[in-house]
Amino acid sequence: VAISRIRNFCIIAHIDHGKSTLADRILEYTGALSKREMQEQVLDQMDLERERGITIKLQAVRLNYLADDGNLYTLHLIDTPGHVDFTYEVSRSLAACEGAVLVVDAAQGIEAQTLANVYLALDNDLEILPVINKIDLPSAEPERVREEIERVIGLDASEAVLASAKTGIGIKEILEQVIKQIPAPIGDSSKPLQALIFDSHYDPYRGVIVYVRILHGAIRPGMRVRMMATGAEHEVVEVGTFRPRMTNVDELSAGDVGYFAAAIKTVHDTRVGDTVTTVEGSATSPLPGYRRINPMVFCGMYPVESSDYPLLRDALEKMELNDAALRYEPETSSALGFGFRCGFLGLLHMEIIQERLEREYGLTLITTAPSVIYHVYTTKGETIEIDNPSMLPEAGKIERVEEPYVKASIIVPKDFVGSVMELCQEKRGVFVDMRYLDETRVTIIYEVPLTEIVYDFFDRLKSSTKGYASFDYELIGYRESDLVKLDILLNGEIVDALSFIVHREKAYSRGKILCEKLKELIPRQMFEVPIQAAIGNKVIARESIRAMRKNVLAKCYGGDITRKRKLLEKQKEGKKRMKQVGNVEVPQEAFMAVLRLD
Ligand code: GDP
Ligand code: MG
Repeated sequence: VAISRIRNFCIIAHIDHGKSTLADRILEYTGALSKREMQEQVLDQMDLERERGITIKLQAVRLNYLADDGNLYTLHLIDTPGHVDFTYEVSRSLAACEGAVLVVDAAQGIEAQTLANVYLALDNDLEILPVINKIDLPSAEPERVREEIERVIGLDASEAVLASAKTGIGIKEILEQVIKQIPAPIGDSSKPLQALIFDSHYDPYRGVIVYVRILHGAIRPGMRVRMMATGAEHEVVEVGTFRPRMTNVDELSAGDVGYFAAAIKTVHDTRVGDTVTTVEGSATSPLPGYRRINPMVFCGMYPVESSDYPLLRDALEKMELNDAALRYEPETSSALGFGFRCGFLGLLHMEIIQERLEREYGLTLITTAPSVIYHVYTTKGETIEIDNPSMLPEAGKIERVEEPYVKASIIVPKDFVGSVMELCQEKRGVFVDMRYLDETRVTIIYEVPLTEIVYDFFDRLKSSTKGYASFDYELIGYRESDLVKLDILLNGEIVDALSFIVHREKAYSRGKILCEKLKELIPRQMFEVPIQAAIGNKVIARESIRAMRKNVLAKCYGGDITRKRKLLEKQKEGKKRMKQVGNVEVPQEAFMAVLRLD
């Protein structure tokens, strides 16, 4: 096809506003998949994505569309992840497009991630086409939402399509607007190759499948290509497009979106945002905007069965081939034994990886409480970065500690302003701004330590606003804080995996609550177990778990054997996520208790 007949676009939306459903409808309408072939939510392929109803890995599909003007167009539809953990991937996929369809729920209106996504789209100079979705809902208020889009975002929404991705209303109108209003790509196939990597996945047979948008030049099998940021060179074996299944083509040229494979061993060679060029006659400069994605949240992962350590190592190795944002390195804990320190983009990313490790590799894992990266300036003039609280040097050796801060934007109905401000204040937030979106809703902006966001912020926000708040955040930098390490001792021994870093003013209350929670969470043993919270040598809180009175089996004395067996099995089941720490058995929940201490 001529480049003038190509349109590259993505769909952006706040979570649950109907992005994936709309994408499915568009696939169906353009005949990329027949209804019969069509599984529910094709674009969300991973089981986990389907279950959780979120998009984790973005996808790109090539579609043919015969427009009302009588011409056949090639559309590349790029699906984007909807969660803040994956903002960088969203941003790169937007860079591969000229336009964005902005889906807004007709009942909910604009939410925090609607705005965050619009800003990303504007940063990438995209043409934005507003679509008001879910007009089939009885609670839909399309005209109010239209007005809101105009006033809050400043977009002309007079032609916004009123759609229902559920029933199929408005799909054709959306495609016609895509053709008419989103510009064709500008590119020159005779120039040196410049292709933007916006995603990749690992295929056990072909190696890494690199998802690219070709800006200039062309890519064909047999070419030697270089990744401009990593310098890695490879020979292209295959190029193709997603229809949505991977389909071979002879070449991809300027304006195209597709993939290539080049027997690449790990996704770490192919970084999202990097530029691919040819080794001979290469482009002189990479495309703008590349940055390395760095994990923000770290935790320890330990197999419950120590003998599973090699299995966990292999599983992480395989997982890493597929996930450029995942980091891991071996770590030893005196409490938990051999495991790994793993880095993630955020809590959701962490939960997804843990769940996949357990499901796909049959592992049972203990994960320790997540931590952010602290910058520690020592009295010797050194700067160290710490992602494991137990590594914090003793107080006398520290000059100051800095922690990461984020700018949090929260949208709520005005009745909840008080509760949100109270929560932000409690989370050590610094008030920045508050603006009315309309008569009923308010945007509140705070600067908050990232660790407070990781610890329970979202759940607290939801419960204190009856689920009406929406939330988005971005990292703004490091700031000095008065932080201390809180150690937990079981039976007089420090359990390194339970140590955490906390603001001095909160240390007492959090230490006390944690001791109380551990008392409930750790099952009784044959002997009494003292629990203490300490800062340095100073114990600030204590509890004790009373000894078990008698063996549970004693109850079955004289009872029938099946009942006895059932009890034993139940005990075994309960043991699944337990770890022997010294002579105390500690369950998984104990390591996460630190997340909910307010
Ligand atoms: P995403 O998170 O933006 O990808 O949203 P999904 O496409 O997963 O949709 C979220 C929920 O809204 C699902 O339960 C959909 O079935 C539902 N949904 C999507 N579009 C419509 C619509 O037009 N009308 C109604 N009533 N429900 C919709
Ligand atoms: Mg989705």
